Formats: sequence, C-alpha cells, structure tokens
Amino acid sequence: MRGDAEADVDLLIVGAGIVGCTVAERAAALRGWRSLVVDRRRHVGGNCHDALHASGVLVHSYGPHYFRTDSDDVLAYLSRFTEWIPGRYVVKVATRGRLFDFPINLTTLEQVYGRAFDADEARLLLDELRDRSIVTPRSSEELVLSRVGREFYDLFYAPYTRKQWGMSPAQLDVSVCGRVPVRFTRDERYVDQRHQVMPRDGFTRMFERMLASPLITVLLGCDFAELRGAIRPRVATLYTGPIDAYFDHRLGRLAWRSLDFELVAYEQQWKQPCVQINYPGAEPYTRSVEYKHVTGQRHPQTVVGYEYPRASGDPFYPVPSARGRRLYAAYAELAEHARRTERTYFAGRLATYAYLNMDQATAAALEAFAEIERDWLASRVRHASAGRG
Ligand SMILES: Cc1cc2nc3c(=O)[nH]c(=O)nc-3n(C[C@H](O)[C@H](O)[C@H](O)COP(=O)(O)OP(=O)(O)OC[C@H]3O[C@@H](n4cnc5c(N)ncnc54)[C@H](O)[C@@H]3O)c2cc1C
Repeated sequence: MRGDAEADVDLLIVGAGIVGCTVAERAAALRGWRSLVVDRRRHVGGNCHDALHASGVLVHSYGPHYFRTDSDDVLAYLSRFTEWIPGRYVVKVATRGRLFDFPINLTTLEQVYGRAFDADEARLLLDELRDRSIVTPRSSEELVLSRVGREFYDLFYAPYTRKQWGMSPAQLDVSVCGRVPVRFTRDERYVDQRHQVMPRDGFTRMFERMLASPLITVLLGCDFAELRGAIRPRVATLYTGPIDAYFDHRLGRLAWRSLDFELVAYEQQWKQPCVQINYPGAEPYTRSVEYKHVTGQRHPQTVVGYEYPRASGDPFYPVPSARGRRLYAAYAELAEHARRTERTYFAGRLATYAYLNMDQATAAALEAFAEIERDWLASRVRHASAGRG
C-alpha cells in the first residue's frame, strides 16, 4: 500500500502520456481535484517523450514526433505550457540509389520521369496511371492503385508498407496508406495541417509544466497492477493503458505493430538533408530520422534514429483489421460497463485501440475530462435529490 498522500486522491490516472497529463492538468486547474498519475515507465510524456542523448543532442525516445493540427483549440490549450518554433517536416524516400520527394508532388514526378511537369500535366499523367476501375477502395492497395497507379505503388508504397507492417497493402485497411496526400504543387511538407509547430523547449518540458500543480502527484516506474484496488479515487479512474490488458485479455489479445530504435551519433553537424528518410528497399530499417532538423537545436554533432519494424514489443500501431475492430468493440462494451459501475474511463491510443496523433489525443483527453466532470455533476445532483427525498 502506498502513502496517504497517494491514496487520498480525486482522480487516479494510469499513464503519464499526453492524455494523462492533459486530464490531470484540467482537473487541477478547473476543479481543484487532486490527481495521482502513475506510469510504469520512468519518465513522463509517454511516447511523446524526448531527452538528451549522451552526445547532448535532443532526441525523441519513441520515434519522431511532429506536432501538427488543424484545431485552434488544441493549439491554444497546449500553448499555455510551451512556446513553439516552426516545424519543417520534410520526408524523402531513398530507393533506386537516389532520394525522391515524398508525398508525391510535382518535383517527385520530375525526379521519376526526368522532365518538367506543371499541375495540369501531372493531373493528366496520374489520371492515365491510376486504376479507374476501383471506385470504392477496400484496402490500402486498392486505394493507392486508384489514386496513382501500379508504378508508384510498386516504387513507394508496396515495399515500404510490407516492411513496416509485415503484410501486403492488400491485407491492410485503406486508412494505412490513406493518410498520405498527393499534391499537384511543389509543396514538399509531409503533412497538410494548418499548424505545424514544435515545442521550443521540447515535449518533455511541456509535460513537466502541465504536471507542475501541487495538486498532481506523479509516481513513475509503477504499474497500475501494483495499486489496482488499493487506491479508491473519490471521482474517477482514467486508464490510458492497453484496453485488453485492463480486462486481463479475457476476450483475446489485440494485435499491435512495434518498433525498435537504434540511435547513432555522428561527429558531424548534419547527416541527411531532411528530418526523415524512408527506405522501401532491402535495408533492415524503415526510416532514418535526424531530430535536429525539427527540434531547432544547434549542436556540432548529430544523432540519427533508425527504426526497425517488429511484430512484438511495445505496442505502437494498432493493426487495422476486421478482427481487431471486432475485438476492440467487444472490449469497448466492457469499458462502458466499467465506466458506469466503477467510474473508470478509457482514453488515448492504447485504451481506444486507435492511431491518434498528438492533437487528436489531446482533444480526446479534453473530451474525457469533460465526460468525467459531467458524470460527477450528475451524480452530485442525484445524491442531492436522494437526500431531499
Ligand atoms: C513511432 C510513433 C511516431 C509517432 N509520431 C507522431 C507524430 O509525428 N505526430 C503526432 O501527432 N503523433 C505521433 N505519434 C502518436 C503519439 O505518440 C500519440 O498521439 C500519443 O503518444 C498518445 O498519447 P497517449 O497518452 O494516448 O499514449 P502514450 O503516449 O502511449 O501514453 C500512455 C502511457 O501509459 C503508460 N501505461 C500503459 N499501461 C500502464 C500500466 N498498466 N501501468 C502504468 N502505466 C501504464 C505507458 O507507459 C505510457 O507512458 C506517433 C506514435 C508512434 C508510435
């Protein structure tokens, strides 16, 4: 059993990722609620954690995190805890012995065909190349073929996706390749969102500021299993860990894709021309990431992270499949029951078995806090009327 300060709480929050931090912060600021935030890792920030490598270069601990959003509200909320620097998220593909711009844009077409293109010519070309017989794509393969045709599918999408997922795009949901745009401009940015910014002092510093209230206690290196049942929060439990683990995998295990990261320091200022290079070829890694391109840090050395896809390990990407969706739906019913009977709420990428970007995770956390507050207010009204009756 933990100490009194830890047991005497309004909220028990499992996971110090962006969701746990947001709910703890809102609970303290808006309601004066006391939260205990536990995480089995030895740091805050969950997968968005960053830290100094031994060389002194700031790196992202779990793969590159590029903050981008179309939500003014999410940006305004996080801006209370950080200033921002512009994010320049540029990705290239290394294949056939050279680098290509990615996502596909006019420059990519010029690199592939060795001649100039304007937007109209590019549209005409892709219209000729794309498979017009596919009207409603049912897989990532069909989606890419219907947009850009076989040649680009074989060059950029199929080999990379096979390596990353261990499956053909034909077996994967449209959402896997659907996120990548195709552009008829020279815009080389990786993503389309209106706001593309990075926290000036890093993500971890932002989370530390979110957790700075004296009403928030953070317990690191502690698994929820260690205090399950021992701490009874007055208002609610927020669980942001894997939903199947919460229910002891009683309906089966949800499938996740994982990654190993290798960090390599170089005695030079820059190693690659942009933050991320994708490798669809025979290399054992899928991406190389030179963080300094997006953190804005000046340093005489540099560090590049290489990512190796794995079938097991830390759960990173939910495997989008019909089985996964069915199994998650069954767990979601148990979760709804737990909300009603135990006041346990499930939010975040692991608890809702969804690939959520940071802004979506923040929005989900703000919504989860609003739901906890609504239920709490409703129960107070019920108690008050029961008292009067
Ligand atoms: C490789 C990779 C790259 C990404 N890149 C981007 C990007 O560029 N831009 C972007 O917007 N998003 C990106 N994301 C998504 C981003 O990481 C998520 O949006 C974010 O992590 C979601 O926050 P969360 O709080 O839901 O989950 P997490 O960050 O995973 O936090 C959950 C926390 O719960 C803890 N936990 C779980 N179970 C227990 C337990 N039983 N007891 C105690 N603690 C527990 C975990 O240790 C973890 O720290 C990326 C994700 C990955 C995997």
